[in-house]
Order: sequence, then C-alpha cells, then structure tokens
Amino acid sequence: MVRQADGLALHLERLAECRRCGHPEPIVPILSRARRPRAMLVGQAPGKVEISSRTPFAGRAGKTLFRWFAEAGLSEEEARDRIYISAMTRCFPGAHPSGRGDRVPTRDELELCGSWLDDELKLIRPALIIPVGKLAIGRFMGDAPLAEVVGREHAVEHVGGKSVLVPLPHPSGASSWIHAPGHRALVSKALELIGRRMRGLAAAALFLALAPAALHAQSRTDRWLGADKVKHFFTTALIQSFTYSVAQVTTRAPRSSLLLSASVASAAVGIGKEMHDRGSYGLFSVRDLAWDAAGAGAASVMLLHTRH
Ligand code: SF4
Repeated sequence: MVRQADGLALHLERLAECRRCGHPEPIVPILSRARRPRAMLVGQAPGKVEISSRTPFAGRAGKTLFRWFAEAGLSEEEARDRIYISAMTRCFPGAHPSGRGDRVPTRDELELCGSWLDDELKLIRPALIIPVGKLAIGRFMGDAPLAEVVGREHAVEHVGGKSVLVPLPHPSGASSWIHAPGHRALVSKALELIGRRMRGLAAAALFLALAPAALHAQSRTDRWLGADKVKHFFTTALIQSFTYSVAQVTTRAPRSSLLLSASVASAAVGIGKEMHDRGSYGLFSVRDLAWDAAGAGAASVMLLHTRH
C-alpha cells in the first residue's frame, strides 16, 4: 500500500505539471506544503500574489486567514504544515473584468480542475475539511446561505469518505458579509470549532506516535517466562478443574457443557485480573492471558481423560 506522504508527493508532482486550462506562463498550479495532513482547507483559486511566491494564501486574504487561525490556536507555520491547502482551481484565473478582485473560475475550469481535488480527498481522507468561501462551500453543501452554515460543524460524505466540515467565509474582503450584524460572531464560533478539532487531531497523532513505544516498553518488563507466568498457568488450571468439578456434581451436565462453563469462568477470572492490573498499574498483559489459556487447556485435557 502506498503511504499517504508518498502518494501525496506523487500527486503534487503531477499537479505541478498540469496545463489543462492553457493559462499563459508564468501562471502555474500553486501547491500546499503539508505532507501528512489530517485536515484540508479548500479555497477558491490562487490570486496574483501567489504567482511569484508559489505559496497558497500568500497575499492579503492569507493575512486575514492566518489571523483567524491564530484565534483557533494555530500559528501560520503550524497551519501550513498541518492543513493541506487545496482550492477549487489551482491556477490564478486572471483579474475580474470589472477590475475589482480576481475572476471567478469558469464552469469549464472548475470541471477540468475538479479531479485534482477528488484525488486529494481520496489520498488524505481528511477528518476535517475547511471550505473557504461560497464556491468551496457549495462544492460540499450545495447552495446554502453563509449565515446558515458558518459557525457550525457539518457531517459530509465525499469521494474520500466522511469528514467534518467547518465552513469559513472568504477572507479576501471582497464580500461585505462579515460586516453584517452577528456574522463576525459566527466566524469566531467556527474558529473555536476548528481549534478544538485540530487539538483533537494533534492528540490522536501523538497517541499513535507514542503507542508503539509504550508497547515496546511493556514487552521489556513483561516477559514470556517467569515465576508470575507459572502462577498464572497453575492458578487457571485450578480454577478450570474446580469449576468443572462443582458443575459436574451440581448439574450432571454432559462433558462439553461442563468444559464450556469452566472455560468461561477461567476466562472471566483471567480477563478480570488483567483489567484490574491495568487500572492499578497500567499494564494489561496479553502474555499473562496466554499462560491462563495454556493452564485452562492443560486442565481440560486432563479432565477429558478422567473417568466420570
Ligand atoms: S486550473 Fe487546475 S486544471 Fe487548470 S491548469 Fe491549473 S491545475 Fe490544471
């Protein structure tokens, strides 16, 4: 299986070469630098500033966006490293004919570029998606009014699976939406949700990084052979035999039922002890359970060869 970082590196190599829309040089796709992201941001399209810097959200809109992320507890560096910055189209579409801001990508450009986003959703399978601006929000949620979707989490399904979506308005300043009463509060709420989700993802990543080390440490202190393992073997063999004998005297059930009851009792005692140990010392030993099973098995064989 191709690892996410390798798959993404290959994807970015291909995307960098894309000239499907026939934009004139030096307009080329603008790429994200995140390599092991669990979150994705989907913007509209790069602006003129990004042509020279080759960095998404490098201009005025980026300044506002990263100021917002600071509210969510993320510095610009962290956000760029941990959030894959994608867009509805990856090349600067040119200036708007009116002279105000950038041209909105055409339907053809959106269609031509859409497969790159689909591929990224499949590769990254993001836990969190942050669509920025109406065009990106519409890609996942249809034509919903911003006031109804900003400030909330939404569960969405897409080609890469399921994600939590936290939409933001576009930070370009071209729209006056954010200045309407109550709308800045919605943005603050969205940033609080993004911060919480990003902290959860960081904690999960830390746990995954540390878990193998903890298991390794446990395997060094908990050995396969030792006095405690002998105790486990004989104690469980005793429990198995005792339970079998009590059930035999009190129920006169067939051997198979007696063995089943005895095995259930032995397993319950063994697992119960490990749960107790985990609560008291933080150690749930699979090796102890293996020796418990060996003791119960040995007692069962012995019981099967005794006369009723
Ligand atoms: S906008 Fe998208 S499809 Fe068009 S050339 Fe750029 S990367 Fe390729």
